[in-house]
Amino acid sequence: MAEDKKVGLLIVYTGNGKGKTTASLGMCVRAVGYDWRICIIQFIKGSWKYGELEGIKRLLPNVELNVIGEGFVGIIDDNKSFEEHRRAAQNGVNLALEKIKSGQYQLVVLDELNVACDLGLVTEQELHQIVEARKSDQYLVITGRNASDWLIEKADLVTEMKEVKHPYQKGILAQKGIDW
Ligand code: ATP
Ligand code: MG
Repeated sequence: MAEDKKVGLLIVYTGNGKGKTTASLGMCVRAVGYDWRICIIQFIKGSWKYGELEGIKRLLPNVELNVIGEGFVGIIDDNKSFEEHRRAAQNGVNLALEKIKSGQYQLVVLDELNVACDLGLVTEQELHQIVEARKSDQYLVITGRNASDWLIEKADLVTEMKEVKHPYQKGILAQKGIDW
């Protein structure tokens, strides 16, 4: 029998296979069914694509999406300094702390926070602050490759998406409606 009692969980989607962001989006869709308030913060700009950005508009006013990334770090067209990326990430950390502490959201999704940590844009200490700000009845989802050992230890639910096959290996590019 399904449990109706709300406990609050720290949830992590990590690994090198596809599905981390879409899993968190699926969770948002489910939660909207119960009229929850949801806050999504996108740490790496571009991690949320046109499809989900438009799709989320249909989940208004339950879902609020905040984009804070400063583009892709270290990629050819990246003309921002590390300091600029770091400041943007810090804004994201402050926003995440504010949103979590407000107690207004039953579900908070911090998309690609693991990647921001892995790149050194968010410090381990800032990650600790975020995780520790969660109230016991809130659900917090953190996505992205290379989740830290500390986060994995701390989380209640960790799923590692493992790449078994990906069409990219056959040269098939990202598909509209599926990847973006
Ligand atoms: P998605 O947004 O589709 O759920 P993800 O969040 O698991 O993917 P990311 O690490 O955020 O994956 O990757 C961002 C982009 O790279 C996505 O558009 C995704 O389709 C694509 N991608 C994810 N996994 C792979 C893979 N194993 N090989 C090639 N491309 C991938
Ligand atoms: Mg993703």
